[in-house]
Amino acid sequence: MKHNVSTLISEEKLINRIKELAAQISSDYAGKDLHMICILKGGAYFMTELSKYITVPVTIDFMAVSSYGSKTVSSGIVKIIKDHDEPIEGRDVLVVEDIVDTGFTLSYLLEMLKDRKPASLRLCAMLNKPDRRIREVKIDYCGFDIPDEFVVGYGLDYDQHYRNLPYIGVIRPDEV
Ligand code: 5GP
Repeated sequence: MKHNVSTLISEEKLINRIKELAAQISSDYAGKDLHMICILKGGAYFMTELSKYITVPVTIDFMAVSSYGSKTVSSGIVKIIKDHDEPIEGRDVLVVEDIVDTGFTLSYLLEMLKDRKPASLRLCAMLNKPDRRIREVKIDYCGFDIPDEFVVGYGLDYDQHYRNLPYIGVIRPDEV
C-alpha cells in the first residue's frame, strides 16, 4: 500500500505535546494511582508514549471496540470486541484514545464505563476533530484539534496500514 502522505503534525511536535499532557496529568493525579485504559488499536502508540512520562504510579489495561457502519459514516452502534481485564470500581481511570471524530464511540464507551463505578473517569485523546462532532464528549486532555481530514500514523490506520508512521499525516481525499 502506497499513498501520498503529507505531514500534519511532526514527530517532534507530537512528542513535545505528549510530554506536556503527561506533566499535566501527573500534576492532576498527584497522590493517586492512575489506571490507564487504552482503546485498541489506534491508541496504542499514544498511550505507550504518554505513560512513559507520567510520574504518578500507573497501571494499564486495554479495550477494543468497533463501530458498525462504513468507514466514513459512523452508525452510532458500538461493539465491544475486547473488554478490559481488571475491575475498575473505585479506581481513577483515564481512557486513552487516538481520535474523537463524531463522538459516538467515546460517548457510548464512557457511559458504559461510568456504570462500573470508577472513583473518577476522564478522557485523554491525542486528536480531536471538533467539526465532525455529533455526540458531545468531554475531552479532559486533548493533544491537538485538527481539521476534518483523514489522518494516519502514530497508531491511526488506513486499512490497517500506516499505524507505524512516527508522525500524523494526511492522505489526500482522492486517494482514500
Ligand atoms: P467516532 O466514534 O468519534 O466517530 O470515531 C472514532 C474512531 O474513528 C477513532 O477511534 C478512529 O478509529 C476512527 N477515525 C476517525 N477519524 C479518523 C481519521 O481521520 N483517521 C483514522 N485513521 N481513523 C479515524
